[in-house]
Amino acid sequence: MQKNSTMTVRTRMAPSPTGELHVGGMATLLKNYAWAKKHGGQFVLRIEDTDKEREVKGAIDKILRVIGDYGLAWDEGPEKGGPYGPYIQSERLDLYRKHAEALVKAGKAYHCFCSKERLEKLREEQRTAHQPPKYDKHCRHLSVDEVARKLAAGEVSVIRLKVPANTQVVFQDLLRGEIRIASSEIDDQVLLKSDGYPTYHLGVVVDDHLMKITDVIRGEEWISSAPKHVLLYDAFGWEKPVFAHLPIFLNPDGKGKMSKRKGVVSARSFLDRGYLPEAMLNFLMILGWAKKDQQEVMSLDEYIQEFDPKAVSLKSAAFDLKKLNWLNGVYIRQLPLPALKKRLQPFLPADFPVDKLDAILPLVVERLVTLAEIEALTSFFYRLPTMDAQALLQKADPQLVTDQLAQTVAGLEKLTAWTHQSVEKVIRSLQEEHQWHKGQYFMMLRLAVTGKKATPPLFETITVLGQQETTVRLKRASAALG
Ligand code: GLU
Repeated sequence: MQKNSTMTVRTRMAPSPTGELHVGGMATLLKNYAWAKKHGGQFVLRIEDTDKEREVKGAIDKILRVIGDYGLAWDEGPEKGGPYGPYIQSERLDLYRKHAEALVKAGKAYHCFCSKERLEKLREEQRTAHQPPKYDKHCRHLSVDEVARKLAAGEVSVIRLKVPANTQVVFQDLLRGEIRIASSEIDDQVLLKSDGYPTYHLGVVVDDHLMKITDVIRGEEWISSAPKHVLLYDAFGWEKPVFAHLPIFLNPDGKGKMSKRKGVVSARSFLDRGYLPEAMLNFLMILGWAKKDQQEVMSLDEYIQEFDPKAVSLKSAAFDLKKLNWLNGVYIRQLPLPALKKRLQPFLPADFPVDKLDAILPLVVERLVTLAEIEALTSFFYRLPTMDAQALLQKADPQLVTDQLAQTVAGLEKLTAWTHQSVEKVIRSLQEEHQWHKGQYFMMLRLAVTGKKATPPLFETITVLGQQETTVRLKRASAALG
């Protein structure tokens, strides 16, 4: 379709409710969203629920929710409505039937009465002969009278497209240029099933046309369906939309297509694992596409300004988790503390001392990669860490460490004001007075108090932990040494 300046750009995302939206689906959705917004057009959401066998209960709701949770919204679609609704295909069955029958009337499609058994036998023969599975056009040549007679007798039928013989199906893909395929390669596909439901092909073409979609941006797994759609547009005499088929993502190691196994690659699962939606969106923006200035951190508005599906790389991008982690850290540290606290709420364990959150958070924010890590990074503040006596004896003998612990306890117990400064003064003075090896002494204290080698700065940690808890832990370490 040639676009002119007065034409609105309308894009769509058309998920099937077979489960949670895949993260790759979210990337496709984002591109459709951005392309419509860039032109001041509309982004449409349509639910393609015509394959009742594959439908998963509750999936529609999950799809709708996750889009909102990623901070995106549709202009027309379920719950919101719009001028071309309903936007759920199972509520549009009459439309598909009407259109399929119109094609039959026009001689572009036909009723097929072949039984399941006959089709299965045919497929079996083709398998044995190493031929691709294809309908043998058995019913294509039934006479009008015969069809009428069978229909009147109540014989079950489907409607198939009459694919024209000996022509070339030609269309433009925005990323690949011209694609050409001989019509002889294309099956007389079913358009309307015997249960009255359309197939994906009929549903998608009728709806994209009736919903005035101008640009179909979707995953490359649909490219083999595109010639069938082109034939359908031609059969109806409709103008075709622009097609852009986007490459799929590869696994983080660059090997193989990202798989949906165990739902770990659903868009939702990343939020559950503590990735911020805005970091996810930013990550999906730069997978296989780059801003002209190569700047990787960008807002949704900046993306909308610059995104062009033509500039998406045809080479499949690896789902680079390192980059995602880095971006998530960038976005976490951009959040003002009150906002970060709010985002952390669902990730705080039940025993987290909420009254200490303000004190603890600044100590760990630098090392927070995902929100879900809050527990691992802070648990020693509110749970007694496991004690490894052996680890306390690095670069020192038991006598020295026991002495260091005893003196530190004594010094800290004397404090009447428990502040960062007073704690630091006690510990530094002891170290200087006894000429203890600084690295050894501080690391030993860190391990005794937190059970970990890497923690926030020692004095801050001890200050937040409190006088009583610190001394209890130091005494416990001493006891562990025997
Ligand atoms: N219902 C298809 C899906 O599940 C839509 C494909 C398309 O965008 O045409 O992804």
